Amino acid sequence: MQAAVLLGAPGSGKGTIAAAVARESDFRHISTGYAIRQEMESPHSEIGIAARSYMERSEYVPDELALALVKGILVEAGRGAKILFDGFPRTETQARRLDSLLRDLGGRLAGAFLLQADEAVLVERLQGRRSCEGCGTVFNRVWNPPTVAGICDACSGALVQRVDDFEENVAKRLKLHEEAAHGLIRWYDESGRLTWIDATQDPEVSAGQILAVVKT
Ligand code: AMP
Repeated sequence: MQAAVLLGAPGSGKGTIAAAVARESDFRHISTGYAIRQEMESPHSEIGIAARSYMERSEYVPDELALALVKGILVEAGRGAKILFDGFPRTETQARRLDSLLRDLGGRLAGAFLLQADEAVLVERLQGRRSCEGCGTVFNRVWNPPTVAGICDACSGALVQRVDDFEENVAKRLKLHEEAAHGLIRWYDESGRLTWIDATQDPEVSAGQILAVVKT
């Protein structure tokens, strides 16, 4: 089993770039934010029930909850799986526990990638972001618009603005990321496993840089 992790602030393009990497490799793209929202839609999911109040406040779900979700995903994926996580880990605790989990499952970390962009770019992207209600595909009104406004190219579902992309929640999420990211970045950087990626370049170029590392 191999896992790669894509780190970066909200709006840094993790979803778009992870999808491009998955298209060009046998890595599966797993967004923990999307997986949690799916859990919330099933009325009996313990993870969904426990996550709801945090998600509604645009806060991180507790580490134990995120880790339970990820452990379930890794175990179900099986030994030969290759997974690219988008939005996990988000804290140093999650990163440390992912290392232990991979060790326990006989897997390894194929790479850790940090997408970097200035705050002004992140804010503009977040406010233009629209997600498909049906399949979760993410578009952006400015830099990655759908062919028909308001309609998903992949499944024709309706495109909506997520509550946590509303203006008042964007600032809160960026601040939360800023606070949590230091320890997380240090954890991978000090062990020589972090690759820095310029999130303002073409997403295909970023995806190519990631592929060059994970395919070795
Ligand atoms: P995202 O779709 O990646 O922006 O995630 C949406 C929301 O899901 C976040 O604001 C958090 O509330 C929650 N979430 C996703 N991944 C994690 C994680 N690894 N740890 C804690 N909360 C998470």
